[in-house]
Amino acid sequence: MSKNDITILYVEDEVHVREMLSRFLQRFCTKIYIAKDGEEGLSLYKKHHPDIVISDIRMPKMSGLEMVEAIKKINPSQLIMLITAHNDSEFLHKAINLGIDGYILKPVDLDAVNEKLETLIQRIQNERAAQQLKKSEEKLKLLSQAVEQMHEMVQITDVDGKIIYVNPAATENTQYEESELIGKSNRILKSGEHSKKFYDNLWKTVLDGKTYQNTLINKRKDGSLYYDEKIISPIKDKNGKVRYFVSTSRDITQRVALEKELQKLATKDALTGLYNRYKMSTLIEDEIKRTKRYGEVFSLLMLDIDKFKHVNDTYGHDVGDYVLQELSRIVLQTIRKTDSFGRWGGEEFMLLAPHTNAEQAMELAQKIRKRVEEHSFEHVEKITVSIGVTEYINTEKETSLLKRVDQALYEAKANGRNQVVCF
Ligand code: GH3
Ligand code: MG
Ligand code: MG
Repeated sequence: MSKNDITILYVEDEVHVREMLSRFLQRFCTKIYIAKDGEEGLSLYKKHHPDIVISDIRMPKMSGLEMVEAIKKINPSQLIMLITAHNDSEFLHKAINLGIDGYILKPVDLDAVNEKLETLIQRIQNERAAQQLKKSEEKLKLLSQAVEQMHEMVQITDVDGKIIYVNPAATENTQYEESELIGKSNRILKSGEHSKKFYDNLWKTVLDGKTYQNTLINKRKDGSLYYDEKIISPIKDKNGKVRYFVSTSRDITQRVALEKELQKLATKDALTGLYNRYKMSTLIEDEIKRTKRYGEVFSLLMLDIDKFKHVNDTYGHDVGDYVLQELSRIVLQTIRKTDSFGRWGGEEFMLLAPHTNAEQAMELAQKIRKRVEEHSFEHVEKITVSIGVTEYINTEKETSLLKRVDQALYEAKANGRNQVVCF
């Protein structure tokens, strides 16, 4: 029998018996407290609350029975074993009334002690196991309640992806009844928005026993899509084999939409501080409306750095970034307050020049082209730009205007770069 955290209080006034038996009792416990009379026994009991009390009956100061009576008042279910001589039979009756758990006759038979103690220890261990079980059952109940009430969607699948549990948040969000999901493959939520490679990677990660974290686009019962910010963790058995997957996720569709909206609302390009493409496009549309209404004129210039890839490749990306910033400064210094200049893409820029016809726009473009050509950029020898120019043709749409300016720029490139072409 293991000594499994058992403590014993042993009370005996006869020195020889005490020494012999306490040595024997040590085998059964991790800690033994030894007292030589009832009074000392009681005070040790109060201090240590041992699992088992073993006591003689006849002792000076306080008898074993008095001590047991006091102990039973403190803990009515305390395990107690008495050691008694034949002539103590009158006390035995009292002892039984006190509810002791066993007695041994003197002279002590160690086999009998062994047998009785093992029975008592077994009782203690059974009780402890029962308590443990009750605790884990309570814990399990608590856990499942928590999962049921979670705002996050929780889903448990087996290793084949068959759904075996969904919490109410998951059924509510997916619009499926619990019974429509349980036993089904989790492919039921697949949107078709991800490649096979995407899912292969997901499966590989979790089957390897690793946690997978990503945002998935999934599909509700009514066919609508939602962004599912998901963490999938494998649940392994004792041998480390993956048995289940538990996924918790949040529907972040609204957040994604908001972020997209915010991104659009941001008007500045981070690197150059110029207007971004979205803002430029809005400004061009506004200008088109104004021109239509008041019969005004305006022009568009599209500017692209020549052989910019070469700058990056030769001097590094940081120098490339610096050139973009420096070029932005040069152009801003060259244009009018009413002109709008923005970054259209990587090394492409757009200049909107109100009240400006094609001829005036050509002059402006040449001025910009020359300033850039003459400017000495740090690190880089020379930078040149090609510029496409076009004037707005009344009533045309933004797309047709943009197409024409792009063609003009293409022509400038095709003709050998560092030049202006007007369409
Ligand atoms: P072309 O004269 O025909 O315009 O040649 P190009 O090399 O300028 O044009 P291409 O379109 O081949 O290459 C443009 C390069 O601009 C490629 C890309 O790496 C670089 N680029 C785009 N955005 C940035 C940026 O923000 N910073 C830096 N450093 N480089 C950028
Ligand atoms: Mg270029
Ligand atoms: Mg380009």
